[in-house]
Amino acid sequence: MRESEPRPERTQVSVAEARDIILGTVRQLVAETVSTSAAQGRVLCEEVRSERWIPPLDNSGMDGFALRAEDTREAPAELRVVEDLPAGRRSERKLAPGEAARIMTGAAIPEGADAVVMQENTEYSGNRVVVRASVEFGENVRRAGSDVRQGTLIASPGAVLTPAHIGMLAAIGRTTVQVTTRPRVAILATGDELVEPDRLTDDGRIASSNSYALQAALRGVGAEPVYLGIVPDEPAALSEQFRRALACDVVISTGGVSVGDRDWIKLVLGQLGGSMQLWRVRMRPGAPLVFAMLQDRPVFGLPGNPVSTLVTFEQFVRPALLRMMRYERVFRPVESALLAEDYNKPPGRTHFVRVMLQEREGQRYAFPTGNQSSAILLSMVRADGLAIVPEETTHVEAGTEVQVQLLARDDLRTEPGF
Ligand code: AMP
Ligand code: MG
Repeated sequence: MRESEPRPERTQVSVAEARDIILGTVRQLVAETVSTSAAQGRVLCEEVRSERWIPPLDNSGMDGFALRAEDTREAPAELRVVEDLPAGRRSERKLAPGEAARIMTGAAIPEGADAVVMQENTEYSGNRVVVRASVEFGENVRRAGSDVRQGTLIASPGAVLTPAHIGMLAAIGRTTVQVTTRPRVAILATGDELVEPDRLTDDGRIASSNSYALQAALRGVGAEPVYLGIVPDEPAALSEQFRRALACDVVISTGGVSVGDRDWIKLVLGQLGGSMQLWRVRMRPGAPLVFAMLQDRPVFGLPGNPVSTLVTFEQFVRPALLRMMRYERVFRPVESALLAEDYNKPPGRTHFVRVMLQEREGQRYAFPTGNQSSAILLSMVRADGLAIVPEETTHVEAGTEVQVQLLARDDLRTEPGF
């Protein structure tokens, strides 16, 4: 066994074992303070309690007239309008018996008043108002602290901040909040055959599409991609780029992890002192995945075929990054559907079949999106999800229920995951 090889029990592992190894290895990132307005979708790292009462004062829930309920016991009742209170103005006088104040929604209830009659239930002219029906004590009054009081728990560590949280934080005057850091993730595309998309000619080289698919996928999880470009299949060049990549929290490479003559990733990681955690997963696409730790940083050596890259990102990198950011739900939601076509495979590997979901006569069907080769990106473009065909299954009859991992949904907050 070469030094760079993982322990034998960590080669040819199942998808679940690979996941356990990876999620058991990555560490949570530290917290950072960000402005509340930039905190949407982030994971809260502190307990937030209100230091204020909201609303701060008893105020009107309606446009109408503030009054003493007692004055309307014998309705209709005519009151003298002594004041006009738009929202934001506070009365300086106390309301005496027989008096009312014109009041707008959100304006503080003047001292002496204990109810508000809605405008629609009055007749109003000059400085007189006739209240048609008697008003209950406290009617249309929103009490101080009826939303939150000083000390009320707003959210606990682990909460994923929604627009409602952001609004609440603003309401209590919190301009900053502690959340988990977004990991900076280095991307290295390896392969002598690769060029950037704007350098494509007809010399037979291909665009490094993985570089762009990965940047997009990283942004989708809230990580920060740091693209280090294309690296030739030469150990010295790879070594240099991996060293540069260590300025980031996580490193992802694509290509060069198989058993080809120029597949150097494992060798280079070994030379750099990385500890190989796993190599090869019993899955398709994506089998030759490498996972190593290099100077405390997780390194994912993803296979180069474009679909293998994306499928292994989904199964392993995305959950790992979400775990590092302390999300509780790190897996995509899974729903059942009826596979629309027969599917045959040899035993021994979990297959992730690209499928499109469609409702027909009240049933949800999963239609394979075409050629399932790991080099065919178009069938991934068309996929809504990945149907999971377990290792030992060799035949799935059309119409059989399968579990489909939904690619377009994250549901980080509420949905139980796979
Ligand atoms: P490898 O794992 O390096 O043998 O690559 C497997 C296949 O994926 C080859 O056909 C490569 O040309 C292709 N490939 C590798 N890297 C990329 C990339 N960054 N973008 C698109 N295709 C790639
Ligand atoms: Mg290659």
